Amino acid sequence: MILDILGCNGPFPAGGGACSGYLVSSDDRKTRVQLDLGSGVLGRLIEKLDPARELDALVLSHLHFDHMSDVPVLGYLLDFTADRPLKLICPETPAETRKLIKGKFDVYPPADTNIGSMRLEFVQGKHPVETYAVKVICDGSTLVYTGDTNDCAEISLFCAGADAILADCGLSSANWGPAKPHMDALHCARLAKEAGARELILTHLSPLNDPEALLDEARAIFPSAYLAEAGSSILI
Ligand SMILES: [Zn+2]
Ligand SMILES: [Zn+2]
Repeated sequence: MILDILGCNGPFPAGGGACSGYLVSSDDRKTRVQLDLGSGVLGRLIEKLDPARELDALVLSHLHFDHMSDVPVLGYLLDFTADRPLKLICPETPAETRKLIKGKFDVYPPADTNIGSMRLEFVQGKHPVETYAVKVICDGSTLVYTGDTNDCAEISLFCAGADAILADCGLSSANWGPAKPHMDALHCARLAKEAGARELILTHLSPLNDPEALLDEARAIFPSAYLAEAGSSILI
């Protein structure tokens, strides 16, 4: 499968950047699922495909704005151009944020499902709001996107055997703690190592952190780590 990084910042974008947004496509590009649609991602998604006709589903890991703020605007696009509702898989809470999502969406709670040639599986992460990691199995490969989460046993178990892990590296190691909402590079690297993954992609990159320092920390434990880069396409 192909992973297009459309945006990789959080909790706010760098200049010219975008928050979380990842387009996953089967090798034949007949099945296409968007994971998260944070600030600045929708315009980049439209460069890749027509969301009204060519997107099979949108999955939101959780309802923090850096992962979903472009969804109401996508609702406008669908109102004007879609003949059918778009499948949207997202948590029910926080209810006040969930109410902001209106329009031509068929909404489902996160639950294991098949979409085209993809298998999607979910597990809850550890974050201040209801949040899910997403596993995508397609074309013989497995990708896990952790969503926003701190280190926890459920996520470790879920990642076991993944080929690639797209991991929340929202904190520097100096700022990490067990009660914090994100992992740091060390925890991402340990997660990938224990999972036996082939590669680790560090994402949710904060403009407040030095990305090269995060990368050095991760590579000391897991050499096949690299930084998510908006605009890049990765064959998983
Ligand atoms: Zn976030
Ligand atoms: Zn979050």
